[in-house]
Amino acid sequence: MTGEAKIYKNYIDGEWVESATGETFENRNPADTSDLIGLFQKSDKRDVDAAVAAARKAYKKWRLVPAPKRGELILKLALWMKEHKEELAREATREMGKILAETRGDVQEGIDMGIFISGEGRRFYGETTPSELPNKFAMSIRQSIGVCGLITPWNFPMAIPTWKMFPALLCGNTVVIKPATFTPMTVVNLIKGCEAVGIPKGVVNMVTGNGSMVGEPITNHPDVDLVSFTGSSAVGKHINSACAPDFKRVCLEMGGKNAMIVMDDAKLDLAVDGALWGAFGTTGQRCTATSRCLVQRKVYNEFLSSLASRAKSLKVGNGLDESVEMGPAIDGDQLKKDLEYVGIGKEEGARLVLGGNRLTGGDYDKGFFMEPTIFADVKPTMRIAREEIFGPVLSVIPFDTLEEAVDIVNQSEYGLSGSVYTQDVNVAFTAMRDIYTGLFYVNAPTIGAENHLPFGGTKATGNGHREAGSQCLDMFSEWKAVYVDFSGSLQRAQIDTDDIVKVEN
Ligand code: NAP
Ligand code: MG
Repeated sequence: MTGEAKIYKNYIDGEWVESATGETFENRNPADTSDLIGLFQKSDKRDVDAAVAAARKAYKKWRLVPAPKRGELILKLALWMKEHKEELAREATREMGKILAETRGDVQEGIDMGIFISGEGRRFYGETTPSELPNKFAMSIRQSIGVCGLITPWNFPMAIPTWKMFPALLCGNTVVIKPATFTPMTVVNLIKGCEAVGIPKGVVNMVTGNGSMVGEPITNHPDVDLVSFTGSSAVGKHINSACAPDFKRVCLEMGGKNAMIVMDDAKLDLAVDGALWGAFGTTGQRCTATSRCLVQRKVYNEFLSSLASRAKSLKVGNGLDESVEMGPAIDGDQLKKDLEYVGIGKEEGARLVLGGNRLTGGDYDKGFFMEPTIFADVKPTMRIAREEIFGPVLSVIPFDTLEEAVDIVNQSEYGLSGSVYTQDVNVAFTAMRDIYTGLFYVNAPTIGAENHLPFGGTKATGNGHREAGSQCLDMFSEWKAVYVDFSGSLQRAQIDTDDIVKVEN
């Protein structure tokens, strides 16, 4: 698409403003690089400073707005998103590439999060509890933290920003969000929603630009109290260290190498459906993607041939075409990485049973398309079984016993999601108990999280926090224990407690 490219601005203190650099960057459709979505601000530290200052100023008042009222504004925003769901999904597919059914799901996840979190505003519960001393009252309450820096990836361009922004706001914080360079349009759209429903100026600010010029200054800013990041483990590790010297609160959601276990009593058609959706949905570019499939030896060949023939017929193309089942890689570098892993798998001695090539010819030449790819006879020690590829490349691994399968799954440096297919309740519960991940599914693939349950992972996937669920409130608020002594005298805890139990008439 040629013609005049639309210019999108930063959103700071309730105004759409140009970056201090005066420069912009292009956002193009990965399914058709001739489709220019727009030009976005190439911001730097000066823009971050302005956004943080606005957020700091707005924080003074926003923290005092009653939580139920903050929740109502978020609900309005969720309803605004519902009204605009189709256009939001289309723009997300255009800038990110995944198929429309999936971007509709991505937007719906944001809507669900808004509806769920808005209710938390009326359930912002603490505890009341008896004091150990007479005429004294004790309780715990949540307090807001301050300015939150939100750094988001491109693979869920709407859901992940809402997973961070909505609970941050509900808890009384203000935010500065940096969208991924590949997907700023979707966050611009979310900000338009904030504006439409009347979120006060300065409460939400957005600065576009890359990781080093915008992400770093957010992370290092002394007036940012919390950094919430979703992305790769490498960048997460760096952010974690950068936040450590000032004890800045930091919440990290990172990579995965998720495994599905298929037992020999499983309903094989169901398991094949699950593996297809888990491995090739979002072109494998999900943190929860099924990238390892462990199959019990008795059904190994049958499962593999059925999976390969189904995967072979997946229609790959531009996600805006409703008949397409798998979109492109996000960009040329990711495609190159995917193809490199195909080479690595071959060198390691895995058996390539499907795909492995870039798709070319016709419209394929306009974007970054690749065949759904399956390796069989993969050994758990191979790099393709251990490293996150983030592409449509599935490693199938044979095993004999459940114990062996659980060991293989747990060998991963990551711990986001796992799943088991079986008809045996004993096997299901054993696997559920023994697999060390933050998410686990029985008779479903490794993807499919719902907003009212906690989301996150163990080991190199996360640093102990959870997004979504009511647990996400713990990330964006601090607990305060409050004691109210109405005895009129000094009562010393743990000391003046000896005679209290005497009851004299
Ligand atoms: P990424 O390269 O780590 O980038 C994530 C975000 O961090 C982007 O906004 C990026 O900006 C920014 N960033 C890059 N370098 C930075 C720095 N030095 N300081 C501060 N910010 C910086 O990850 P991605 O490629 O966008 O996403 C894919 C990864 O995310 C995968 O590993 C996937 O597993 C993970 N992920 C995890 C979850 C989860 O919930 N566990 C969910 C989705 C994705 P630019 O866009 O400008 O590079
Ligand atoms: Mg793009």
